[in-house]
Amino acid sequence: MRSQPVSRRRSLAAICVALLLGSTSWARAQAPDSAGLPHFEFVQVVPDVYVAYQPSIDGLLHGNQTFVINDSDVFVFDANFTPAASRATIAMLKTITSKPVRTIAYSHWHNDHVWGTQALLEAYPGPINLIATDSTRDDILHEDQEKHREVAGFYTTLLAAYDSALASGIDPGTKRPFTPEERGKAVAVSASLRRYMVPQSDSITYHLPTISFARRITLYDGSREIDLYCFGRGNTRGDGVVFLPKEHVVMTGDLLVYPVPFAFEAYLTDWIASLHAVRALGATHIIPGHGAPQSDYAYLDLVTRFLTAMRDETRRAVRAGLTLDAATKRIDLAPWHRAFAHGDDAIGKMFDAYGPAAIASGYAEAERAAKAARAKPGR
Ligand SMILES: [Zn+2]
Repeated sequence: MRSQPVSRRRSLAAICVALLLGSTSWARAQAPDSAGLPHFEFVQVVPDVYVAYQPSIDGLLHGNQTFVINDSDVFVFDANFTPAASRATIAMLKTITSKPVRTIAYSHWHNDHVWGTQALLEAYPGPINLIATDSTRDDILHEDQEKHREVAGFYTTLLAAYDSALASGIDPGTKRPFTPEERGKAVAVSASLRRYMVPQSDSITYHLPTISFARRITLYDGSREIDLYCFGRGNTRGDGVVFLPKEHVVMTGDLLVYPVPFAFEAYLTDWIASLHAVRALGATHIIPGHGAPQSDYAYLDLVTRFLTAMRDETRRAVRAGLTLDAATKRIDLAPWHRAFAHGDDAIGKMFDAYGPAAIASGYAEAERAAKAARAKPGR
């Protein structure tokens, strides 16, 4: 598949970096729990299937990592955000099994799911297959390398900005002296950048998928069957989904992100179809791209309803000739804020940061469809 235009890639890189830090805005920057790794829960979903997830939504958001222990080896779905994070989850895995990791599959190309690969390769010498959808391989090749250069520079620049503001005592967001609380948060972010993110982001090495697939590939190891699907576009141009048919476990990648969907530059119509396809697999355990494993469809259905509403409302807005700004003002996100946050302040803030992205994605899709319809001969 053809890669995206450069300008689009750059804007996506900027968005991802901003959101991974909570926000580039000083007023909204979230302080990580500490200057080091986040805490990971390591839980058994069903026998031989374990997931490492980050329960907190403070600071840097790390993608889930799922481990399937086969007869002779271990299959890993997603590689975590940083080598240090991946080393931490590998240590947890090694308390469960001494079998080697021999296959890593990626749900998509975003760095919080890919950048920890080198730690797995170092921990398990020998042949390891890296599997991704055709478009994810293409995106890692074309988008991630560009993003890496930007991200490494971004963290260094951001650290310098924090340090100079802390030295001057003035909060660049408010232009006023830091309050003690703001200063504390800025010190924590600065420490996290210095000790955790900058050293690692400058040393990430890239490992392209060695196997890619268009729609489906199945892996067998003794009694284990692992189905990898691509249902089409969704959160990205081609998200990978893993299904264990005997264990009834599905791993969705960021087609499903808890507690708020990540809908930046996404494809809402195809995403909705992909979620229906995930649901049709009939899994009894759902492992999302972020957050704890789930055992019912309540959250998947909420996300599907939200994306459908945003798709329909933005279509109406484009038909009525509204600008994106006007559409964003008109579309009422308050009921969805309540449905996702359930009164939780931190989730509410996350929804306020992420929710409007679904409007922007829906609007862009509706505009593309309207343009294509106008270009059709006979119209
Ligand atoms: Zn993610």
